[in-house]
Amino acid sequence: MYPNGADFGLSLTFDIEMCSNFPYWTSVWDHRKGAIDEDSKLYMGKMLDVAQEYGVKFQYFLVGSALEDANIDYLKRMVAEGHAVDNHTFHHVNVKAKEIPQLQPVYKNAPWRAAGLDALACLRREVQQTSTAITEKLGAAPTGFRTPGGFNNGLDDVPAVQEVLSDAGMQYASARYYFPVDPQKKRPTADVLNQAMETSIDTLQPYRYPNGLPEIALAGITDIWAFRVLDLDRWDFINVLKHGIDHAHANRQVLSLCFHPPVLAVRDPHCDMLHGVLRYALEKPGGCWVTTNQEMVAHTLN
Ligand SMILES: [Zn+2]
Repeated sequence: MYPNGADFGLSLTFDIEMCSNFPYWTSVWDHRKGAIDEDSKLYMGKMLDVAQEYGVKFQYFLVGSALEDANIDYLKRMVAEGHAVDNHTFHHVNVKAKEIPQLQPVYKNAPWRAAGLDALACLRREVQQTSTAITEKLGAAPTGFRTPGGFNNGLDDVPAVQEVLSDAGMQYASARYYFPVDPQKKRPTADVLNQAMETSIDTLQPYRYPNGLPEIALAGITDIWAFRVLDLDRWDFINVLKHGIDHAHANRQVLSLCFHPPVLAVRDPHCDMLHGVLRYALEKPGGCWVTTNQEMVAHTLN
């Protein structure tokens, strides 16, 4: 059914940006999302070692402002080793913003950055700047886009944004996130987490928007939700991911998971999650097709 004769597909996706409240609860990076710290860069090197060990490719989404850094060797290595580096806007903007200040703190603090453009035109510029920067600095043009933040309804309610992405040459979007648990209830039981995981995967299989743009949703639970919202510990998180692998395998689905290196660097310094998930998936009868989002589009929707 899937390439390599596998019964199910998995993409491990990583948003390269700094995250609020990592490494400490008081660390706020919202105005400097692209200021990737040294620890995160080192961690991304470890992650690439793990990918090599298992012979798999990862899917990355990069905030364009990270390319203003003098040292981008960690990104060059990703591209050289065949991983996909796609577009996550330049400043990590809210794609559904109607007014300039809603885009992002850098626009709120300095609205003149918009230079007279409206919010949608700013988004268009953000997407183009990022694709140009990735192409010029890393030598590989992005083919896909992940929205900063995930939405329960994806881009269903913003056809103009679907158009902006298609016009910018994006061959898929990754905008939809759905993990139905109560965010007020910390540390839910494994049963609650596993049920939410199954519902998420069943709801978030690949589809196309009315304009033809494919959507490869962020299924399951992100590390931000696990650690910042629900206060899970590392093995609670790994176990619910394994349950998702069981479910996708049993139902011959695809599963695209979303993580953030600065979060994992703090909460999983020895890459237990990556080792655990990859080993578990690859040992399933028939194996697992571990792939990039672009490949997932090509195989599931074409
Ligand atoms: Zn992000």
